[in-house]
Amino acid sequence: MFETHTFPCPNCNEIINDSMRECRFCRAPIDPQAARAAGELQARVNQACSDASYTATAAYLMFAFLLLDLIPFVPFVWLAYVLTFFAVIFLIVRWQVRFGGLRTRDPDYKRALFSRNVALVLWLVAMPVWIVGHIFGAVIIAVLFR
Ligand SMILES: [Zn+2]
Repeated sequence: MFETHTFPCPNCNEIINDSMRECRFCRAPIDPQAARAAGELQARVNQACSDASYTATAAYLMFAFLLLDLIPFVPFVWLAYVLTFFAVIFLIVRWQVRFGGLRTRDPDYKRALFSRNVALVLWLVAMPVWIVGHIFGAVIIAVLFR
Protein backbone atom coordinates (compact mmCIF):
# COMPACT_ATOMS: atom_id res chain seq x y z
CA MET A 1 0.00 0.00 0.00
CA PHE A 2 1.23 3.49 -0.86
CA GLU A 3 1.87 5.53 2.25
CA THR A 4 1.09 9.24 2.09
CA HIS A 5 2.46 11.90 4.40
CA THR A 6 0.96 15.29 5.01
CA PHE A 7 3.05 18.45 4.87
CA PRO A 8 2.58 22.22 4.40
CA CYS A 9 2.51 23.47 0.80
CA PRO A 10 5.79 25.32 0.06
CA ASN A 11 3.78 28.01 -1.72
CA CYS A 12 0.72 28.68 0.48
CA ASN A 13 1.47 26.69 3.65
CA GLU A 14 -1.88 24.82 3.63
CA ILE A 15 -1.61 21.18 4.72
CA ILE A 16 -1.54 18.86 1.69
CA ASN A 17 -0.21 15.36 1.08
CA ASP A 18 2.52 13.90 -1.10
CA SER A 19 0.19 11.91 -3.38
CA MET A 20 -0.88 15.15 -5.10
CA ARG A 21 0.70 16.62 -8.22
CA GLU A 22 -0.51 20.12 -7.47
CA CYS A 23 -1.64 21.94 -4.35
CA ARG A 24 -5.43 21.75 -4.02
CA PHE A 25 -5.50 25.20 -2.41
CA CYS A 26 -3.22 27.35 -4.56
CA ARG A 27 -2.75 25.06 -7.61
CA ALA A 28 1.02 25.35 -7.38
CA PRO A 29 2.70 22.34 -9.02
CA ILE A 30 4.43 19.97 -6.60
CA ASP A 31 7.66 18.18 -7.34
CA PRO A 32 6.97 14.57 -6.24
CA GLN A 33 10.47 14.06 -4.83
CA ALA A 34 10.42 17.33 -2.86
CA ALA A 35 6.91 16.44 -1.70
CA ARG A 36 8.05 13.05 -0.43
CA ALA A 37 10.99 14.63 1.43
CA ALA A 38 8.67 17.25 2.93
CA GLY A 39 6.19 14.54 3.93
CA GLU A 40 8.88 12.47 5.61
CA LEU A 41 10.18 15.53 7.45
CA GLN A 42 6.64 16.24 8.64
CA ALA A 43 6.33 12.65 9.90
CA ARG A 44 9.59 13.09 11.85
CA VAL A 45 8.32 16.37 13.32
CA ASN A 46 5.12 14.62 14.43
CA GLN A 47 7.18 11.87 16.03
CA ALA A 48 9.39 14.49 17.71
CA CYS A 49 6.27 16.13 19.18
CA SER A 50 4.79 12.96 20.60
CA ASP A 51 8.16 11.80 22.00
CA ALA A 52 8.78 15.21 23.59
CA SER A 53 5.38 15.31 25.28
CA TYR A 54 5.96 11.74 26.52
CA THR A 55 9.33 12.85 27.93
CA ALA A 56 7.76 15.86 29.69
CA THR A 57 5.08 13.59 31.19
CA ALA A 58 7.80 11.26 32.51
CA ALA A 59 9.52 14.30 34.08
CA TYR A 60 6.27 15.37 35.81
CA LEU A 61 5.84 11.82 37.09
CA MET A 62 9.44 11.83 38.37
CA PHE A 63 8.75 15.07 40.25
CA ALA A 64 5.54 13.64 41.73
CA PHE A 65 7.50 10.64 43.05
CA LEU A 66 10.15 13.01 44.40
CA LEU A 67 7.57 15.04 46.36
CA LEU A 68 5.86 11.88 47.62
CA ASP A 69 9.21 10.58 48.80
CA LEU A 70 9.72 13.72 50.92
CA ILE A 71 6.72 12.68 53.03
CA PRO A 72 8.24 10.63 55.86
CA PHE A 73 7.40 6.95 56.24
CA VAL A 74 6.09 6.39 52.70
CA PRO A 75 8.04 3.26 51.74
CA PHE A 76 9.62 2.45 48.36
CA VAL A 77 8.70 5.73 46.62
CA TRP A 78 12.40 6.58 46.48
CA LEU A 79 12.87 3.59 44.16
CA ALA A 80 10.16 4.86 41.79
CA TYR A 81 11.81 8.27 41.90
CA VAL A 82 15.30 6.93 41.12
CA LEU A 83 13.97 4.78 38.26
CA THR A 84 12.06 7.68 36.67
CA PHE A 85 15.12 9.91 37.23
CA PHE A 86 17.19 7.65 34.98
CA ALA A 87 14.31 7.10 32.55
CA VAL A 88 13.87 10.87 32.06
CA ILE A 89 17.51 11.58 31.19
CA PHE A 90 17.50 8.56 28.87
CA LEU A 91 14.41 9.91 27.08
CA ILE A 92 15.92 13.42 26.84
CA VAL A 93 19.19 12.13 25.36
CA ARG A 94 17.35 9.82 22.95
CA TRP A 95 15.11 12.69 21.83
CA GLN A 96 18.15 14.89 21.29
CA VAL A 97 19.90 12.23 19.18
CA ARG A 98 16.83 11.52 17.05
CA PHE A 99 15.24 14.94 16.67
CA GLY A 100 17.70 17.56 17.95
CA GLY A 101 19.00 18.35 14.45
CA LEU A 102 15.69 18.61 12.59
CA ARG A 103 15.60 21.64 10.30
CA THR A 104 12.05 22.93 10.22
CA ARG A 105 10.11 26.07 11.04
CA ASP A 106 7.11 24.03 12.11
CA PRO A 107 5.54 25.63 15.23
CA ASP A 108 4.85 22.11 16.57
CA TYR A 109 8.59 21.49 16.60
CA LYS A 110 9.05 24.62 18.72
CA ARG A 111 6.52 23.21 21.17
CA ALA A 112 8.45 19.92 21.18
CA LEU A 113 11.67 21.82 22.00
CA PHE A 114 9.82 23.56 24.83
CA SER A 115 8.62 20.22 26.25
CA ARG A 116 12.19 18.90 26.08
CA ASN A 117 13.43 22.00 27.94
CA VAL A 118 10.77 21.58 30.64
CA ALA A 119 11.84 17.95 31.10
CA LEU A 120 15.52 18.94 31.21
CA VAL A 121 14.98 21.70 33.81
CA LEU A 122 12.89 19.37 36.00
CA TRP A 123 15.62 16.74 35.71
CA LEU A 124 18.39 19.22 36.59
CA VAL A 125 16.64 20.52 39.72
CA ALA A 126 15.35 17.10 40.85
CA MET A 127 18.44 15.86 42.70
CA PRO A 128 19.20 19.15 44.54
CA VAL A 129 15.51 19.44 45.57
CA TRP A 130 15.50 15.81 46.68
CA ILE A 131 18.68 16.14 48.79
CA VAL A 132 17.71 19.50 50.35
CA GLY A 133 14.20 18.16 51.00
CA HIS A 134 15.56 15.13 52.83
CA ILE A 135 17.96 17.23 54.93
CA PHE A 136 15.04 19.51 55.85
CA GLY A 137 12.87 16.49 56.63
CA ALA A 138 15.56 14.96 58.85
CA VAL A 139 16.00 18.23 60.75
CA ILE A 140 12.24 18.62 61.28
CA ILE A 141 11.92 15.01 62.52
CA ALA A 142 14.93 15.48 64.83
CA VAL A 143 13.35 18.61 66.33
CA LEU A 144 9.87 17.07 66.67
CA PHE A 145 10.97 13.78 68.23
CA ARG A 146 13.71 15.06 70.50
ZN1 LIG B 1 -0.49 25.63 -1.95
